[in-house]
Amino acid sequence: MEKRKELILPYKTLKQSKPVSTLTELPPLGMSAKDIGEEYRRYFSDTLGRDKHCRLLHYSYNALALVLRDRLLERWKKTRYAYHESKCKCTYYLSMEYLPGRTLSNAMVNLGIVDEVSHGMQELGYVLEEVSEAEHDAGLGNGGLGRLAACFLDSCATLQLPVVGYGIRYEYGMFRQCIENGEQVEEPDRWLRYGNPWELERPEYMCRVHFGGRTEFYRGEDGRLFARWVNTQDVLATPYDIAIPGYRNGTVNTLRLWSSSATDEFNLGEFNAGSYPESVAAKSAAEYITMVLYPNDVSENGKVLRLKQQYFLASASLQDVLRHWVRLYGYDFSEFAEKNCFQMNDTHPAIATAELMRLLMDEYRMEWDEAWDITHNVMAYTNHTLLSEALEKWPVRMFRELLPRLLDIIYEINARFISEVARRWPGDIERQMRMSIIGDGNEPYARMAHLAIVCSFSVNGVAALHTKLLTEGLFRDFYELWPEKFNNKTNGVTPRRWLGWANPALSSLITEKIGNGWITDLPQLHLLKNYVNDKEFCLRWREIKMHNKKRLAALIKQGCGIVVDAFALYDVQVKRFHEYKRQLLNILHVVHLYDRVKRGDDANWTPRLILFGGKAASGYFMAKTIIKLINNVAEVINADPKMHEYLKVVFLPNYSVTAMEIIAPGTDLSEQISTAGKEASGTGNMKFMMNGAITIGTLDGANIEIRKEVGDENLFFFGLTAEEVFQLRKNYNPDAIIHTDEDLLRVMQLLTSGHFNQFEYKIFDSIIHSLTSPNDPWMTIADFRSYVNAQKKVAEAYRDQNKWTRMSILNTACSGKFSSDRTIEEYNNEIWKMSPVPV
Ligand SMILES: *Cc1c(COP(=O)(O)O)cnc(C)c1O
Repeated sequence: MEKRKELILPYKTLKQSKPVSTLTELPPLGMSAKDIGEEYRRYFSDTLGRDKHCRLLHYSYNALALVLRDRLLERWKKTRYAYHESKCKCTYYLSMEYLPGRTLSNAMVNLGIVDEVSHGMQELGYVLEEVSEAEHDAGLGNGGLGRLAACFLDSCATLQLPVVGYGIRYEYGMFRQCIENGEQVEEPDRWLRYGNPWELERPEYMCRVHFGGRTEFYRGEDGRLFARWVNTQDVLATPYDIAIPGYRNGTVNTLRLWSSSATDEFNLGEFNAGSYPESVAAKSAAEYITMVLYPNDVSENGKVLRLKQQYFLASASLQDVLRHWVRLYGYDFSEFAEKNCFQMNDTHPAIATAELMRLLMDEYRMEWDEAWDITHNVMAYTNHTLLSEALEKWPVRMFRELLPRLLDIIYEINARFISEVARRWPGDIERQMRMSIIGDGNEPYARMAHLAIVCSFSVNGVAALHTKLLTEGLFRDFYELWPEKFNNKTNGVTPRRWLGWANPALSSLITEKIGNGWITDLPQLHLLKNYVNDKEFCLRWREIKMHNKKRLAALIKQGCGIVVDAFALYDVQVKRFHEYKRQLLNILHVVHLYDRVKRGDDANWTPRLILFGGKAASGYFMAKTIIKLINNVAEVINADPKMHEYLKVVFLPNYSVTAMEIIAPGTDLSEQISTAGKEASGTGNMKFMMNGAITIGTLDGANIEIRKEVGDENLFFFGLTAEEVFQLRKNYNPDAIIHTDEDLLRVMQLLTSGHFNQFEYKIFDSIIHSLTSPNDPWMTIADFRSYVNAQKKVAEAYRDQNKWTRMSILNTACSGKFSSDRTIEEYNNEIWKMSPVPV
């Protein structure tokens, strides 16, 4: 026993001393407007050292953040104690991305003191909204996947589930997007430059992560053979904790983000030889690991640094969990699998499976079978996409150099797995090759999705259609082997942020009518159905939408200087730019509307604002060209005085969580128009629905479930189904479609004639080429006609404002299913199996 202890001693730089117990219990902090105002003054002047001459809202924001953080810290500690004392099962959410948006608003909402803070600040002469504006969004994610992780943490804390989020504290988050000459320009996002009042550094839990070196085998005293990883280059991982409060329930969970730094062991040889710079260079190499978030959404580009980031997250988090286990339970791991679960957000942290095997065998001296028994009973994997460019494949060569010991383990897992396949399907070599974790070719590679499936007890998709396509297509072989592993968990979003906070006017109206139970039990929104024929209610619903559209108009004015009319139909597509999401289909429709006005086909016109927003990965040429096209079309239309009363097109730069809080409530029409079978779930669709926007969409992802909830008559569906897309692929002929559709032909002629790129020769050729290619995977041309027809119905429906309002109310009323509370309850009931822990 003593021997073991020595092997796993955590890296220590700080002397630990016992806290004085009488000092740890303090009276609860005041929550009234007066208490908050007084505390604010103290932080502003005594802690931050500012006075009445300070005009920078940044300091006001910081002082207020500290006031709120104190109130979280109390509850945070009590939550930790409650978890320790109950010795409950815990789940660890492993995610390379979190997109929480602003923390101040979240803390106020979940502590239940928005009004108190607002009044307290008002007394001091501040406007809370202005102070909140000083907070920079934490942009530690790309899009849907990172935002999902943030919604999930909110729901876990609200349901009082012991869940810890693990992630990376990127120094530079998602880039800031500017538009210059219609093109995306990326600017670095140094979000930590002015400090982050919400994080708590915890150097006492620092740990060491190895890279490089080689494997060495040796015999222990008992004669057993062990492996150790030697000659490694080590990096330190320091955790920074962020409090995740539940909604008014006293629970505060933890998001633990790792930051990398160099070990203190400078290369003494080099240092003494006068090579101080070389010895310090190692320091910056270590710090690069957590320097920057890769700005790729649903695509991987195989960079070594990315693999380092993934392993860094996996290793540090697992070491942390094991250290915690040993402190609570000693070296007895017999109950470890019953008391721990790891949920992997896509394959990004999938190396955690092999790392857990390594730690259990090499550090805790378990036999293979014992370690495997634990590993494949604690790991669970969520798949987020069927797109082949998103499936992670790491060259074996890269693994061998960077993580040699993990490669050994992956080979061993694979060998045992392949013999299982061979026992089940004797002689089926093809199947063995298809299922192997190691793919062969000129350059052998590790398939991370296969590793994740083989090592997990649960594999889930994120919407019903997506899970069906997974089990029938991409993972079919695995489904045949282990049908019991596969399950669906349709995504959701947190109603606290996406309805409660983002849409205060609508929230008050809803609460006035049906009480406030909906905030933690969203299906209660069904009660709103009783009011669809209530004239006064409908009128107020419509007035609130108008008010929210004016807020959105102000954001647009501020973001790009364009003035828009609140009476137009607000037609909105905001999301990452990707060909599968088909912003192109939307802009083709815009060009068609422009063409109609030009040729005088403008009877019974519904004026529209078409709003686009979203970032393109910096290396994704096609997505960037689509942004340019949208901006050029907008330029032509907005500059034409004849268009003013018909159409306006806006590209709002730098789409973010905070922008979405204004956009969703101000939207009439939500564009969810991906090629069927390509969008795993979507969550933007849910935020819009909750806020009473009506969907125009394809039968894809969670759109299908939205239709099931709200009914076919309350949204606008069009286009090919996933099955039809699959069938048509064999003989798709876009040119033939174009030549049988007069409207489409005219749109294509405007594009090919250079109408939108008069002085920019050929810049849209790549777009025209891909649209007209029989191999276009996104089949944009195939859906043009049905999309235009659906948009015509939208325009008609909008002209009947009573009908539209009724549809809007019903969309909100039927959005209950799409709360992430429901999603998390399903994860917990079917995968994690924990009991809530009251605090
Ligand atoms: C919700 C959200 C997304 C995901 O949107 P989809 O339409 O589902 O792709 C992406 N980015 C931000 C900032 C979001 O709030």
